Amino acid sequence: MNNWSQCRYYHDLQGQVVLIGDAAHSMFSFLGQGCTAAIKDAVVLDSLLRQHDDQLSLVLPQFSAQQVEEGHAASDLGLIALIFYHRWLGLLYKVTTLLWVVVLRQPIIFARLNQVDANYVQVLHENRFWIWLAKKVLSNPPKVAKQSCSKQLSVDR
Ligand SMILES: Cc1cc2nc3c(=O)[nH]c(=O)nc-3n(C[C@H](O)[C@H](O)[C@H](O)COP(=O)(O)OP(=O)(O)OC[C@H]3O[C@@H](n4cnc5c(N)ncnc54)[C@H](O)[C@@H]3O)c2cc1C
Repeated sequence: MNNWSQCRYYHDLQGQVVLIGDAAHSMFSFLGQGCTAAIKDAVVLDSLLRQHDDQLSLVLPQFSAQQVEEGHAASDLGLIALIFYHRWLGLLYKVTTLLWVVVLRQPIIFARLNQVDANYVQVLHENRFWIWLAKKVLSNPPKVAKQSCSKQLSVDR
């Protein structure tokens, strides 16, 4: 859990390559969202291809514009695992979650993510305190390698 990457683009500048699924966004196994996120990428890509008559020069930049933020949110949400398994923050998280479900009658994060229209950016926003805590308070947060995948994905013609 020490390193994972978050790309700024999922497509290359020549419009020949696009990253989807695990190749696009590193996921921790905690939330069991890897496959769901991969399928979502495929659905969005398919919809954009239909919308733009397979014109990759239009489709790929739009795909990145739509999915990069979602991909980042999906991988950030996995950081809740750092809280969940932490000795005392884990207890705080579980007690808070219990109150959240029993008193406020709100769905837990797993139920939220399993809704058909679940949006990772929205769920991340709802859990921003825990993600902030995971990033700021814990002593050994994962290092995020920010990189432009467009540069890495340049394909020689
Ligand atoms: C043990 C385990 C449990 C999991 N549980 C869950 C879960 O409960 N829920 C969930 O949503 N997700 C789960 N996941 C994650 C999920 O399986 C992945 O996120 C998902 O399969 C990603 O799909 P993908 O198509 O991006 O990649 P993959 O499924 O990895 O597909 C990539 C494919 O590309 C092929 N390939 C690789 N290199 C090349 C090459 N050079 N040339 C040709 N082909 C190549 C591979 O053989 C593979 O078939 C789990 C993963 C693991 C390992």
